[in-house]
Amino acid sequence: MDFLRDAHNRIIRDLRISLTDRCNFRCFYCLPNGEPPLARKETILTFEEIERIAEIFVSLGVEKIRLTGGEPLLRKNIENLIEKLARLKKDNYELRMTNDDEEKRQPATRYPQSEMQNPTLKDLALTTNGHSFPRRAAALKNAGLDRVTISLDSLRRERFKEITGVDALENVLHSIEAAKNAELTPVKINAVLVRGRNDDEIVDFARFAREKNVKMRFIEFMPLDSGNEWNRKQIVPAKEIRETINAAFPLELKEKSRGADTAWRYRFADGAPGEIGIVAPVTEMFCGACSRIRLTADGQIRTCLFSTDEYNLRDVVRSGASRAEIVEFIRAVVAKKEASHSINNENFAPASRSMSFIGG
Ligand code: SAM
Ligand code: SF4
Repeated sequence: MDFLRDAHNRIIRDLRISLTDRCNFRCFYCLPNGEPPLARKETILTFEEIERIAEIFVSLGVEKIRLTGGEPLLRKNIENLIEKLARLKKDNYELRMTNDDEEKRQPATRYPQSEMQNPTLKDLALTTNGHSFPRRAAALKNAGLDRVTISLDSLRRERFKEITGVDALENVLHSIEAAKNAELTPVKINAVLVRGRNDDEIVDFARFAREKNVKMRFIEFMPLDSGNEWNRKQIVPAKEIRETINAAFPLELKEKSRGADTAWRYRFADGAPGEIGIVAPVTEMFCGACSRIRLTADGQIRTCLFSTDEYNLRDVVRSGASRAEIVEFIRAVVAKKEASHSINNENFAPASRSMSFIGG
């Protein structure tokens, strides 16, 4: 079996699975006007379907799976899904076979000695707004989750409420401690910076990263809000983020290249703990090394956050397709992955769905 490779010779290593399009927050940069019409319940992939699809992606070389949404913790019994997916980390393929899939009973024929010697999942992560995370952390860890990314766009209570629509800063701060206590580490924090809303907190966030020993990720605002209100003037560019932090806490670049990582990663030059990451899809785009593919909660493959097309894997799976047919479908879709997004082009066409549907 060969790696999943697109027409631009990029290998797909990273699958983002959205578990729901619902959310209990109303972040102004994501869901400013409340939720758009949600997918019908029967169109949402079941845990068994997700497990089957994920297993096939892993057999094709995917090493990282991130569960997202919407708010993934709104999905009932998510621990059951994590348990199923965590089995994909086991070297012994027999351990993750389900009883009813005869085709899966031949691991030797599925993994001939080619480029891929032993395809297994290496990393199972979750992105959450942290609201209900503190009481769930231990169970998620026990189910087999490796690590967590928590979104946090302000360290000020009133502002946090203005940004998300929910007075939950305390809770989200507890999430960070809960994640550490449960050893869901390293803990990453995502902050979307928006001009005039929270760009005066860059240094506070950097200090927070040092004090709490977390990986702070600053993300440029992207045109994926459901209200289509994004405009270029609201972006806080990577260069400015870097310079602002550097003036307060000098930074050293960790690696000269981002590789397939979306972030430029920095350590603190004085040796303080924590890490700074800057994710700059608009001003310092990274499409050339993209290794990601996305599956929406209703089973559509998206080859890019900004795709205007989706590919209906759900119907393929539900039609009773064989493993070989599903693999063929996935390979054909991956081959169509866009060379890059076109946010910076004059003729930029907004993505066909907004962030809470796609899964960030
Ligand atoms: N609800 C979870 C959360 O907020 O962490 C997971 C889903 S959310 C869509 C995933 C990430 O996308 C979050 O860190 C969020 O801040 C980010 N995000 C949402 N809308 C965005 C936008 N328009 N531009 C940049 N990042 C965005
Ligand atoms: Fe919900 Fe996450 Fe979007 Fe905020 S960013 S509205 S928490 S999906």
